[in-house]
Amino acid sequence: MEYQDIAQINMSFSSHLAQTSPYPLGLEIVEAEGCYLYDKSGKRYLDLISGLAVSNVGHCHPEVVSAIKAQADRFLHLIPYGEISQAPQNLLAEKLATILPHSLNSSYFVNSGTEANEAALKLAKRATGRHEVVAIKGSYHGATHGSLSVTGNETKKRAFRPFVPGSSFIELNNLEQLELINERTAAVIIEPIMGDAGVRIPDESYIKALRKRCDETGTLLIFDEIQTGFGRTGKMFAFEHFNVVPDILTIAKAFGGGMPIGAFVSSIENMSQLTHSPMLGHITTFGGNPVCCAAALANINVLLREPWIEDVDKKGKRFKERLDHKAVVEFRQIGLMMAVELASEAQVSRVIQSLLEKGVIGFYFLSCRNAFRLAPPLCITLDQIDFACDCIAEALDALD
Ligand code: PMP
Repeated sequence: MEYQDIAQINMSFSSHLAQTSPYPLGLEIVEAEGCYLYDKSGKRYLDLISGLAVSNVGHCHPEVVSAIKAQADRFLHLIPYGEISQAPQNLLAEKLATILPHSLNSSYFVNSGTEANEAALKLAKRATGRHEVVAIKGSYHGATHGSLSVTGNETKKRAFRPFVPGSSFIELNNLEQLELINERTAAVIIEPIMGDAGVRIPDESYIKALRKRCDETGTLLIFDEIQTGFGRTGKMFAFEHFNVVPDILTIAKAFGGGMPIGAFVSSIENMSQLTHSPMLGHITTFGGNPVCCAAALANINVLLREPWIEDVDKKGKRFKERLDHKAVVEFRQIGLMMAVELASEAQVSRVIQSLLEKGVIGFYFLSCRNAFRLAPPLCITLDQIDFACDCIAEALDALD
């Protein structure tokens, strides 16, 4: 499509494209490459958000794009549900098995983060024969009914009740409440670093105690690494920080290098439960789309080859040093997953708006409105970080 008639496109944006944000940024982006987005006037924006933690290898990474083109020339879609052996799916599943612990050796590909969590919850019920699920207060696991049922954010849930019965919530880092996990609990679902709650990092001892309690009660531990996966925190997966392996891992966002794909991953023994009673225990028409799988494989290969994940800590430290400003109430961070907390939501809006004018994109959190998020592509350079931090500091200065 040519973007000649931008006025017409904008009319469609406001008249025909359903909106859920009352205040969309409204940028008209016509091209993206690396850490930059370009609008129709040619203005360049430094992306500190990565399309919400998606473009970890940068926008339109050439190897991802060429894998997409090569697969598009072969086939776009075949019979789903694993009926036909498809090379892009097989190769991707094999690659995931090589970068994950042995107990996470079987992957089922889906279309999004929320679907990965829906399917993980179903697998936990099927594998344990139980139906109760324990989740964390303040968590976010997706916008469909099952994932919302285990999302601990009342504002997001209130209008959509009733939910799936059997969900209860415990406080992060509260060891006593681990007692609420018992022999009736099918699964505990947790983000190893809580993203949309504003980057909340659990104590290592808590995650270890959680693993132990799940083992004692025969409960499956689900780690939702939809936001933390693929290098964002300085490790390929955040669970590596805690030396704890989940029973089920869910991934999406940065998995596809910009293409829509998610997965739930577990042991082959657990996954085989989905082949019987009932057969086809989870199905999806588009999940594991071969073009998305080819993109995801190229994306992982880029992440394994480039030094970006190793450099995440160094780059994260640079942000922390440069954002030591009196207007910052709290700076929460692990690697390149950051929350900059200010005195109010109004201040956050002013900073995001002012950054936009300066050609820098920062953004809100879903559930932590007095902080703005920074989650740049992992390929961001130190010079780009310095430029970004100068702009942020100017915006913070102007709050006085
Ligand atoms: N889990 C986590 C931790 C997330 O951050 C998100 C998205 N913000 C989701 C699940 C839902 O993913 P999706 O939007 O792809 O459904």
